[in-house]
Amino acid sequence: MTGVRAGVDIGATKTLVVMCDEDGRELDSTSAPSQSHQGGAAILDRVAELVSSLVPDDAVLAGVGVGAAGVVDPVTGTVLVTGDSFTGWAGTPVNAELSARLRGVPVRTVNDVDGFLLGELLPEERNVLGVAAGTGVGGALFVDGRLLYGGATGAGEIGHVGRYGEERCTCGQIGHLEAYASGRALARRYAEATGRTLAAEAVAAAALAGDHAAQTVFTDAGRFLGQAIAHAAGLLGVATCVLGGSVVKSWALLEKPVREALEERPLLSGKPVSVRLSRNGAKSVALGAASLTAGIHRLPEVNNP
Ligand SMILES: [Zn+2]
Repeated sequence: MTGVRAGVDIGATKTLVVMCDEDGRELDSTSAPSQSHQGGAAILDRVAELVSSLVPDDAVLAGVGVGAAGVVDPVTGTVLVTGDSFTGWAGTPVNAELSARLRGVPVRTVNDVDGFLLGELLPEERNVLGVAAGTGVGGALFVDGRLLYGGATGAGEIGHVGRYGEERCTCGQIGHLEAYASGRALARRYAEATGRTLAAEAVAAAALAGDHAAQTVFTDAGRFLGQAIAHAAGLLGVATCVLGGSVVKSWALLEKPVREALEERPLLSGKPVSVRLSRNGAKSVALGAASLTAGIHRLPEVNNP
């Protein structure tokens, strides 16, 4: 019997499962709508069904890794904080409850942006910042060859630090990166400037067609994103950044202000900060989560207050 490992990405709208061989190579994948408003038991029932459906007849499931939105306790896999995209999900001990649905297979759970970053690492890389700009802006840190968790509040929340201006953030504070560089922020700022309500993708199309207000909101987003990357790089000694998320699909609009902001803030070491885009796209979180179960990445065994 060969062993297989599953990686799961539990998003607000969709749950994606990727089945991998022992070396982390993808064998198969499937997805279904998340039961995001049906509570933790229903969400995990759906995950267990999808995982079980992908285990080949001649293989044994050796482990399951989960990437979940929100602040996640890396020891129990409990999602501590979720936004309004989930109901009855916060407080669910994912590791124990999913394992119980899968005949005791070991389960490890991390924040989805941590999963994204693991799914984007190149084999030789030991220091990388991951930033996912989509509905919100999340960050993850791989430092000295391991994920940085910090305490219960979660490390790497690049979307909710800094003060880049006076916009109110989704968290209630003022001027955070998420208030400028998330899809919702781009749409809101464009509506404020023009009175026209467009989704972020449509704002991007308008910017590419020469709409000045649309160009300005993307230039601000790119500039502040570059500044945030430069600050994180300087503080943590991480000179490589991987960017993902739906907003980054508009890289043609973001690249110049991001690179200018980085060039204006060279690291003390003189080493340039390199920025690259996600290679695995929508599968990064699940592929990274699958790698959690292979013993490549150590997770904390006890809480770290
Ligand atoms: Zn915030």
